[in-house]
Amino acid sequence: MLDQPVENLPGVGRARTMRLHVLGLYTVKDILFSFPREYWDFTKVHNVDDLAEGMECLVCGRVTGLREQALRGGKRLITAQLAGTSKTLTTTWFSAVKGRGASYLYKRLQGRRVLWLYGTVKKGVYGLEMANGEWYAERPPGGLHPVYPLTQGITQKMRRRWAACALQHLHELYERLPGHVLNGYLGRQDAIASMHFPRSLEEQQAARTRLVFEEFFLFQLGLHGIDIGADSVAHRPDGTLIHAFLKALPFSLTAGQRRALEVIAQDMESQQQMRRLLQGDVGSGKTVVAMYAAVKAVESRGQAAIMVPTEVLARQMAGRVETALKPLGISTALLTGNINSAERRKTLQRIEDGGIHVAVGTHALITDQVRFHRLTLAVVDEQHRFGVRQRLALSDKGHADLLVMSATPIPRSLALTVYGDLDTILIPDKPAGRHDVDTRLIHPNNRTDVYRFVRQRVHCGEQAFVVFPLIEESEKIGAKAVVQEAEYLRTGPLSGLRVAVLHGQMAKDKDAIMEAFASGEYDVLVSTTVIEVGMNVPRATVMVIENAERFGLAQLHQLRGRVGRSHQQAYCLLLADLHSGNGKNRLQVLRDTTDGLAIAEQDLAFRGPGDLLGVRQSGEPWFRLADIIRDRAVLEKAAAAAKELLRHDGALQAYPTLREELDHTNRKG
Ligand code: ADP
Ligand code: MG
Repeated sequence: MLDQPVENLPGVGRARTMRLHVLGLYTVKDILFSFPREYWDFTKVHNVDDLAEGMECLVCGRVTGLREQALRGGKRLITAQLAGTSKTLTTTWFSAVKGRGASYLYKRLQGRRVLWLYGTVKKGVYGLEMANGEWYAERPPGGLHPVYPLTQGITQKMRRRWAACALQHLHELYERLPGHVLNGYLGRQDAIASMHFPRSLEEQQAARTRLVFEEFFLFQLGLHGIDIGADSVAHRPDGTLIHAFLKALPFSLTAGQRRALEVIAQDMESQQQMRRLLQGDVGSGKTVVAMYAAVKAVESRGQAAIMVPTEVLARQMAGRVETALKPLGISTALLTGNINSAERRKTLQRIEDGGIHVAVGTHALITDQVRFHRLTLAVVDEQHRFGVRQRLALSDKGHADLLVMSATPIPRSLALTVYGDLDTILIPDKPAGRHDVDTRLIHPNNRTDVYRFVRQRVHCGEQAFVVFPLIEESEKIGAKAVVQEAEYLRTGPLSGLRVAVLHGQMAKDKDAIMEAFASGEYDVLVSTTVIEVGMNVPRATVMVIENAERFGLAQLHQLRGRVGRSHQQAYCLLLADLHSGNGKNRLQVLRDTTDGLAIAEQDLAFRGPGDLLGVRQSGEPWFRLADIIRDRAVLEKAAAAAKELLRHDGALQAYPTLREELDHTNRKG
């Protein structure tokens, strides 16, 4: 019955079906899972004399006046007066009417001596007023009344009735939480019933918590993927190659890097599959950690794959990996979507027969054609750009140890929802000799100074980025705007300098331009935020950000991380019109702190999770009820419970229904 269409509910004809579809409700089950957005408290009935401005309550009073006025456009204004002994409440409704007769509402109110009304009391010209209150001819039952999202033609009363109907089929829902996890929480059916018609706010809270827990719990199970907790290769090489790798490094490792190496070495040596998240601010030196892990895998006669989100990053990473590992006799290859088919076939062949030890690439690495001889390590860099599926797909190619790297240090609550409960290790420090980027807020009126400064740095042999946000809705128009700005800079404030333009709409030459800039063929790169991730241009020392107030802090921090990657002092100049207080506070946080995690926490507080995760995810509603900020504590518990369950029963053999459901959602996702 739950899967039947809403048409089968009483009182739902063609017109209302359409309305319900507008609300996203197609089946009886949808009705069941469309929870009230709030509750009205009908426990207490107030007198008109008790009313004060701002109260939202149920009131009962004598009707002392009722009239109807015709407005333009076939509308009527219906006004009623309710009297107490000392005060009067004026209530109004609008009603659409066809023809000349009185409105339906007016007719229904006519002759009534007493009314009950629920609404918000305001102070108006006539004293206390209530607009569009919900009215009752008889005293409505006490308790909490659910309030649902509505659309034209659908009333609260209808929705309550349908919710009650749907609840009659509640027994068809199975309990999703395993018994030992459920411990202490309401059962699923009870929780859903209490969400619609709670007897008290406490009961509703308990119901919500239970359902939030369930959402997080299932999400966590999905994130981990089924079949984890499995064995993988215990990497226990003799260490000669590792030793040679470390000895050949052109710098000494930071304490944070050393610690990360130790932890990851331990993970890889254990028989259990590694699931490790390496967090480290931009420039903290995560790549060398990834290379270390790759060497360890290769020395244990395995293969490693390193996946990064874009073509350019893949090439850059492949270059760095080759430089570092080739001298050790390790063979590397690049695999992206842009490689011609002959070369591609050769590479695929060599990956399959084990001739390639370390493969670096984009999503191309997880396509079906890629088969590894013996993949024992999968590294995913800048992981929040990838979906969960993609990350798992890579390590699944060989049941490999998994190392996920993220340059966006994110609060734990968010990390849990993005990565699942991966074990985390943080590189808290930066290579010695790096200065903090000198960050300044500058009023747009002083733009000329900014560009004069850019010229000056370029004359000293340094390079600069100028970043524009996508101001326009459409990327196309945004791209055009950036091209125009670049043209203006090239002919005006930056004339004589070699200025390149970059935006997301460019097809192939995008990569060529980024690489040309990285190799010093340009002085200034004017771009949209496409440069955000992972670009390594050591000679770039100036980051100019136009309209900085439009960016999220974490994003600005990422952009800032593109400079200051050498011993030279770097600058981040934020051009922003700081009239709005909030904008100013936000940017001051960025100016005054270099701690990526603190910045991310602030961003979460200021703008919610969307910004931290990048635009791609921001539009998606993640959870029906759960809120990762407000429900942090529940999230922690659910994550722990999910991990525990998978540790004992990685394939969810004891929970076939749950497994089936997860398989189903995973296929969709
Ligand atoms: P990220 O963590 O942002 O990926 P990278 O691994 O790209 O950082 O490192 C940034 C730069 O710092 C690179 O040029 C790298 O060679 C250099 N680097 C990494 N570790 C050290 C270190 N311990 N000392 C000096 N330079 C380092
Ligand atoms: Mg990196």
